[in-house]
Amino acid sequence: MSRSRSINQDDLRNHNLSVVLTTLLQSDAPMSRAQLAKSTGLTKATMSLLSDILLTNEVVEELDPQQKAGNGRPSTPLAFRPGCWVGIGMQINTDGYGYTVTDIAGETVMGEWVDRPMTGVTPDEAFAALDELLLPAEATLKRRNYRIVGTGLALPGLIAGQGTGEQRLLMAPNLGWTNIDLHQYDAVRRLEALADNEANLAAIAQIPGYASCRPTAQVEDVARETEREHADEDARPGETLSPNDSFLYISTDVGVGGAFVRSGALVRGDHGFAGELGHVSVDMNGPQCRCGRRGCLEMYAGRRELVRAAGIADGDEAVQSRYVQELHDRWRDGDGKAASAIDQALNAMASVAATVINVLDVDTIVLGGFWSVFGEELAARLRERVVPQILAGGSIDLRVLSCASQEHPALHGAAAYGLRRFIERPMDFLDI
Ligand SMILES: [Zn+2]
Repeated sequence: MSRSRSINQDDLRNHNLSVVLTTLLQSDAPMSRAQLAKSTGLTKATMSLLSDILLTNEVVEELDPQQKAGNGRPSTPLAFRPGCWVGIGMQINTDGYGYTVTDIAGETVMGEWVDRPMTGVTPDEAFAALDELLLPAEATLKRRNYRIVGTGLALPGLIAGQGTGEQRLLMAPNLGWTNIDLHQYDAVRRLEALADNEANLAAIAQIPGYASCRPTAQVEDVARETEREHADEDARPGETLSPNDSFLYISTDVGVGGAFVRSGALVRGDHGFAGELGHVSVDMNGPQCRCGRRGCLEMYAGRRELVRAAGIADGDEAVQSRYVQELHDRWRDGDGKAASAIDQALNAMASVAATVINVLDVDTIVLGGFWSVFGEELAARLRERVVPQILAGGSIDLRVLSCASQEHPALHGAAAYGLRRFIERPMDFLDI
C-alpha cells in the first residue's frame, strides 16, 4: 500500500515539474512563482516547493525582483539558468556532419560542423569522423560539470525502432546506406542517442519552447512580407510560430523531406515513417526516382535534380552543395535554363504542398534547407501557386515561412530532442 502511494506521488511530482518547465519554456518572458501557479493551476505551496527543487538543481535562477503596480510586494521572476543542463545534437547529412550542444536556456555551448560531401562515405567512416569531433567535446563538458540529459541524431533517411535499443536506419538513399544497426556505433551507445529523420528534427527546431528558451525570431513570414512591402509602409513585423501552432515543414536538400507538426507536437505516424513528401508523385509518367516510383517531387525539387536541370553539372558531380549558389546566381541573372528548372520545381512543390494542405487542413508551410537560400521571392511565388489549388480556397489564409537564418536546423532539433527527455521526465535527473 505505502509502496504504491509513494510511486504515485513521484509520478505526480514528475508530472507537475514537467508542466511547470513546459509553461516556463513556452512563455516569452520569465515568470514569478505566483504567475506560474496561476498558469499551471498548482497551489502556491506546491509551486514554492517545485521552484525550490529547480533552483537547488540549477535548472532555473531568480532574476532581480520587479516592483508591481500599486502596493503589492515585488515579485521575483524565474528564468532558465544557462550553462548546466544540456542536450547534444549530432547529424550526418549529405553535405557534411557535426554536433552542437545546447543548454536549457537556449544558448549554444559548443559545436562544430565539417562541410564534406558524404555520398559514398561508409557508415563506419562517418561515425568514426563524428567521434573524432565528439570525444574531445564530451571531455570538455564533463570537465565543466555540464549535465548531459540526452542526445539526438539526425539522419537523412527512415529510422525504425525509434526510442528503443534496436534503432535501425532502414534506408538513406542519398547517402547510399541501407539497413544499418545504429547501436553498433559507440557514439549511439555511449550517448544513448535517439535517432530520427532529419526533417522531423528540423521541424522540432521550429517549435518555440519545445525544450529550451530560444530567440523569438526564428522564422520570418517572408512571402507575406514581400507582398506587404508595396502595400503598407507600416507592415507588421515578420510573423513567427507560436508553441502550439500546426505547420508543414518542408526540408530541401538532395532529397526532399517533410514533417507535420499538429498543435506543437510532431506527428510521426504509426511507425515513425510519416512525412515523406519527396516521394509524392506529381507525374505518373515522369522520370524514375531512386525509390522506384515515377515523377517524385524529389526528381524536380531536389538539389541534385535542380542543378542538373539548370545545366550546371551532371552525374555525381551535380550533388555538390556548392552549386546551390551558382544556381541562385544564374536564376537571379535571368538565365533561361535555371529559370525553367526553378519554375518546374515550384510547380511540383506547389502541387505537393496543396495536396498535403487539402489532406491535413494546415495553414502554415515552413521552408527549410537550400530552398530558403532563394529567399522571399521564391517563398512568395510558392504561396501564389499553392493558394489556387487549396479546395477551401479563401477560407485558409496560407502562411509560407522561411527559416533561412537558421543553419543546420536538424542539428539544433536533435539537441532539443535530447533535452526534451529532461522536460518529460525531470525526476529522472534531479536530485531531490
Ligand atoms: Zn521517389
